[in-house]
Amino acid sequence: MRSVLRLVAIASLTACVVGGPDSESSDLDLAGGKADATGTCSDAKYGDGVCHISLACGVPDIDCFRTFDNAAASKAWCAESGVRLIKATDPRVARARKLVDRAWAQFTARYPLGRLTSMYLPVEVVDEAEANAFVAGDEPTNKQVFAVFITAPMLSSAYTDDDILGVLAHELAHMARLHSFPEVKESVTRHYTAGTSEPIGALQVDRPTARTAVERFQAIADLIGSDMRVELGGLPTGGSQGGLFQYLLGQLMESTNATCKANARAARDLYVDLVMDRELDDSIKIYGTTQNDAETVIELLAACPDSAVDVVVATVAERRAALRALAAELAQKGTPVGKLRYFSYEEQADDFSVRVTHDAGLSTVGSSAFAVKVLGAKAAECQALRANNAVPYGDLLDAHHGLCWRLAHMHQYKASFATQAAVVIDDVDDIIDHPIVEAFVPTRRVSARIY
Ligand SMILES: [Zn+2]
Repeated sequence: MRSVLRLVAIASLTACVVGGPDSESSDLDLAGGKADATGTCSDAKYGDGVCHISLACGVPDIDCFRTFDNAAASKAWCAESGVRLIKATDPRVARARKLVDRAWAQFTARYPLGRLTSMYLPVEVVDEAEANAFVAGDEPTNKQVFAVFITAPMLSSAYTDDDILGVLAHELAHMARLHSFPEVKESVTRHYTAGTSEPIGALQVDRPTARTAVERFQAIADLIGSDMRVELGGLPTGGSQGGLFQYLLGQLMESTNATCKANARAARDLYVDLVMDRELDDSIKIYGTTQNDAETVIELLAACPDSAVDVVVATVAERRAALRALAAELAQKGTPVGKLRYFSYEEQADDFSVRVTHDAGLSTVGSSAFAVKVLGAKAAECQALRANNAVPYGDLLDAHHGLCWRLAHMHQYKASFATQAAVVIDDVDDIIDHPIVEAFVPTRRVSARIY
């Protein structure tokens, strides 16, 4: 799970890579897996010492997980990995333990997980400011960490047990489906174009035209953020230039030139306000009368001699123009940016969460109850858009899609359980011939966290 509010510095999100899944197979991973009678897996490759991403039984290979014998081992891993925990005696730790045990029972009742079900599952409560939960990849071994992480604010009284269980179902799906592996992320992804209605991503076939369009868009937006509006001039709203811009601001805020230092601080405050305040479509908010804050940020920094800001601003302005030109071209070709979609590993985790919370009879639809609380004052606006069937998709750079869209999707997906689509989703045997990498050969480091 992840909130809509975030710094641009961490918005360098997963780009989709060419080489999608076998688009003809009904690759509905939602069915999870089917274990043999012993609760494990009859495929000889299961537990043979090598991590196989796809097995005939559909159960995730035990070799793909970094497991822990006990709490001390898990805590040592956290210390090594820079994950700061709250005190073990804090009552939120006991609540987290109970909830993860419940979530695990609910998840494994739906999706058999072989030998993992008898392993010790660590639960760690992380000392961070934002309510969230995540799972992790283990960089030294390139494995999926078999542990669940919940931030302390998530365990406040603002969230009910059901709210949290919905989020945990999403996180357990990331873990069980090995979403820390880049190969898996890629194999899950399917690109398509929405028509007049919003189709269910899990049921879509990967469309090369849509894939090319999304990838071209992402290639530019990865540098500057995906907001195309002219008013933003040369101010990055994300991407690598956004990260660079924040770094430069930090440098200038320490300048020995007093005017530069003061202006850089003012520019930083304005910039953070600007990029943090997101609309429901994940674009940033441009305030009324002062023409725009973007211009002010850039003007303030003119007081700093010899900075690289000018280079960033020029680069961003040029790239933003390229993004607009691309959007115009795509619209002309019948694939407007606003209609481009991709089913992502995040959407897959949402779908799992809907199935698990439905089966467990919880009051939330997947992680949607938590999402409503994250939206806060924007929840009513989201509700109105849902009623009008006009929910914005969000940022094409972010595999999480827009939070309002996710809410709408989770409800739409649950409603589909009553239709024929749900029958297909339950057909385990149809998903087995999933032509992704047989044996995983580590080629790069696994990303640390998945929210
Ligand atoms: Zn997630």
